[in-house]
Amino acid sequence: MTEILTPKVLVVGGGPGGYVAAIRAGQLGLDTVLVEADRLGGTCLIRGCIPSKALIHVAGLYEEVLAAGSTAGRFGIRASAPSLDFAETIVWKEGIVNRLSGGVAGLLRKAKVRVVKGWATFTDAKSCSVSGGDAEVLIRPEHVILANGSTSVELPFLPFGGAVIGSSEALSLPAVPKRLAVVGGGYIGLELGTAFAKMGAEVSIVEAQDRMLPLYDTELTDPVRRWLESHGVALHLGAKALGEVNGGLEIESAAGERMVLPAEKIVVTVGRRPLTEGWGLESMALSMNGRFVAVDDRCATSSTNVWAIGDLVGEPMLAHKASAQGEMVAEIIAGKKRRFDPAGIVAVCFTEPEIVSIGLTPDAVSERVETVTGQFPFQANGRALSMDAGAVGGFVRVIARKVDHRILGIQAVGKHVSEFAGEFGTLLEMGAVLEDVAGIIHAHPTLGEAIHESALKALGHAIHI
Ligand code: FAD
Ligand code: NAD
Repeated sequence: MTEILTPKVLVVGGGPGGYVAAIRAGQLGLDTVLVEADRLGGTCLIRGCIPSKALIHVAGLYEEVLAAGSTAGRFGIRASAPSLDFAETIVWKEGIVNRLSGGVAGLLRKAKVRVVKGWATFTDAKSCSVSGGDAEVLIRPEHVILANGSTSVELPFLPFGGAVIGSSEALSLPAVPKRLAVVGGGYIGLELGTAFAKMGAEVSIVEAQDRMLPLYDTELTDPVRRWLESHGVALHLGAKALGEVNGGLEIESAAGERMVLPAEKIVVTVGRRPLTEGWGLESMALSMNGRFVAVDDRCATSSTNVWAIGDLVGEPMLAHKASAQGEMVAEIIAGKKRRFDPAGIVAVCFTEPEIVSIGLTPDAVSERVETVTGQFPFQANGRALSMDAGAVGGFVRVIARKVDHRILGIQAVGKHVSEFAGEFGTLLEMGAVLEDVAGIIHAHPTLGEAIHESALKALGHAIHI
């Protein structure tokens, strides 16, 4: 028998957008139902952010132990015969994913959100049936929050199957492939390519544009490129992947030369697209913004009381953006006045070394706004040197408006700089000026002192350079 539910709020999707929206709605006392077809946690928790960072962590550790296992050793440390049991690594990674997914279930229970397992399909904007779970359920809510997320882009000449895999499969391989070809030198391709290279795979990266990580300026990505080159990762920039051939990937290089990159596995990481098919979006009569569901600055769609958040509504496709939108929409439904208008959204790339960026970058500086820039190298930071993090050519760079020193953008590249994301976000969101950063006493010895010094440099009186 079909159960009929009439909650105040229906959330579709249990990723970082949907589950956060549901928890916040529950906290605010709204009768809330969340529908998820898979395990709770979405792309981020199950096959994205968390499992990739777990593998990146293991890869980094293994690389260090391997170096200690070499004849020269490392800082006087010598290890004998280090090895990697990748199957065990995957079990450990899955343990973390399961623990976090279970944690999300607990948080939803605590917020009194009812979770319905199954696939949600809409017949109109406010009628949703759920099938494929424990029971058939029909839901007629007052408000709908769409958080269906995104899926990997597939290349027609490299369809997934056999040796050709997407990021989800790459995060659960039974063993480290001897040779790995990565198509797409963006976030996922570089994070995974770097991790597998550290774990012993021979990695080639094929990128269509003439530079990798095209979202960031080359000054920021140069240290990453240098690491890849010095660790034997073959970077084919401006190259075209043509298709799978026996035992590898055929490509055409930037110079027009055809070659085959030997590969046991070919990971295609050429971007993600919003999941807009298979759940009745067409019957909801919502306006679209290209491939994405169109929303205003409150995440309201063109249909009354239908909201959309996260990867479904556009770039940046980042977990923290999805969660921030989810929290906001729940509060709007509860009657609070909110708008999605962040000063910036911090982005982190977990490569070697890491990159963190928010706001304006030098290549985006407009002629109308005069700016000052301060850059401070980790080579002059004691903590970086004492953690062997100074040699990779990393730095912190701050860009401020010349007239009033208001910080417009701040970036860093270097080991461990992902941890700067919080401070960078705070500075931009609170409208800090260079003098604010100059006045903050950063603890010694920490990498964060480089943030302080970059502001001093922009003011013309850095101490340590
Ligand atoms: P999703 O997380 O995609 O969740 C959508 C959920 O909706 C899914 O669980 C899906 O099963 C469910 N669903 C969809 N349609 C239906 C339906 N009709 N019925 C029932 N359920 C449905 N972002 C970062 O910020 N940092 C990172 O380090 C990072 N690393 C990443 C690494 C990888 C390999 C990948 C692939 C992505 C990474 N991302 C990262 C991006 C991040 O995962 C996404 O931005 C984020 O998950 C988007 O959240 P969401 O809630 O919008 O959608
Ligand atoms: P991406 O957009 O970061 O990179 C895709 C790359 O593929 C681009 O450099 C593009 O030029 C290239 N490309 C496109 N077509 C190609 C082709 N035919 N041949 C060769 N190269 C081609 O996309 P992604 O790496 O798949 O990641 C998807 C999204 O997931 C990201 O945009 C990001 O929002 C999110 N993500 C974030 C993180 C993080 O925050 N650390 C990590 C992973 C993923």
